Amino acid sequence: MIQIVGPCAAETEEQLRLCAQTIPHGSILRAGIWKPRTSPDSFQGVGDEGLQWLARIRQEFGIAVATEVSTPEQVEKALQSGINHLWIGARTCANPIQVQTLADALAAAVQRGLPRPETIWVKNPVNDDATLWLGNIHRLQRTGIPVGAIHRGCNHHPCWHMAHTLRTQCPDIPLLLDPSHMTGDSELVPDCCLAAHALGYDGYMVEVHPHPSQALSDSRQQLPPDAWKSLSAQLQHLPHADGDRELQWLRQEMDEVDDALWDTLLRRMDISRRIGNHKRQTGLEVLQPQRFSQILERRTEWAEKHNISPKSVQEIMEAIHRESVRVQK
Ligand code: PEP
Ligand code: MN
Repeated sequence: MIQIVGPCAAETEEQLRLCAQTIPHGSILRAGIWKPRTSPDSFQGVGDEGLQWLARIRQEFGIAVATEVSTPEQVEKALQSGINHLWIGARTCANPIQVQTLADALAAAVQRGLPRPETIWVKNPVNDDATLWLGNIHRLQRTGIPVGAIHRGCNHHPCWHMAHTLRTQCPDIPLLLDPSHMTGDSELVPDCCLAAHALGYDGYMVEVHPHPSQALSDSRQQLPPDAWKSLSAQLQHLPHADGDRELQWLRQEMDEVDDALWDTLLRRMDISRRIGNHKRQTGLEVLQPQRFSQILERRTEWAEKHNISPKSVQEIMEAIHRESVRVQK
C-alpha cells in the first residue's frame, strides 16, 4: 500500500519534522511549497525555502519526499533539490497546455542530468472529465518517467466514474485516493478510504498536520498523524474481497448518482415550498391540473426520446408531484 502523507502546505521546518516522526513507516512525506490557491488572499505557500526543509528532512530521516509543481521553473527547482516524487495538482491538470510544458521541462531536466523523480503523480482535473485526466497521463508517460494517478474528485464529489474509466484504460499504473481533497472534511476520510480499499486502489495521498485546526490551508480536512496511523493500520490489515470488481465499481457509481438524484429532489421540494408560499400570498389554489398536464406531457416526450418506458416515468412523476402538493399545503 503506497502512502503519501503530510501537511497540505509546508509551514515550518519543525512542522515537517513532527510529521516525518509520526507518519507510518515507509510513507512518502508530502508538503505543498507553492500553493496554487483559488483565492489570492489565501496562504500561497512558503516558496523556495520549503524545498530546503524537505531536502534536509529527507536526509535526516532517510524518507522519500514529494511536492506539487505547477510551472517549469518549479520542476527545475524541485529536481535540483532532489525531491523524490512530484505531483501535478487538480487546477493545473485542468489545462493540458500547461501539463505539456511541465512534461517538456521534466524531459529536458532529466536529459541534462538532474535527478530523475521516482514517480510523477497526476491528479484528476477539477472539472469532471476523465479524457482530460487520461490525456495528461499520456503526455507525462512520453517523458519515460513512471506515472501514477491520484483520484481527488471534483467540488467534494467523488466522481467515481472517472477513476473507473482510468482503471479500465490504464490498468497498469498505480491509482491512489486523496480522501482529504475529495471530502474536504477529516471526519469523512475513513469511509472514503474504506470504499477505495474495496475497489482495489493501490494506496492513498492523505493530508495530516500536527495541529489541524491551526493549519494555514485546508484545516478542516487534515487529520492528526495518530488518526491516520490507526486508519492506515486498519486498511493494511483489511483483506481484499475477491468479489466481482466490475460490479463493485458500477455500484459505487450508482450510489453516487442516487445521492445526487435525492439531493436534486430535495432542491425540487424547496422550490415547491416557495411556490406554495407564493400561491398563498396571491390567493391561487395549490393544485393546478393544467400545469401538471404540461409537466407530464414534457416528461413523456423525454421518456420516448430516451427509449425508456413512458408509463414508468409518469408513475415516478406522479409520486414526485404528490409529495410536492403535500409540501405546498
Ligand atoms: C494538494 O494536494 O495540496 C492540492 C492542492 O491538491 P489538489 O490539486 O487536489 O487540490
Ligand atoms: Mn490541500
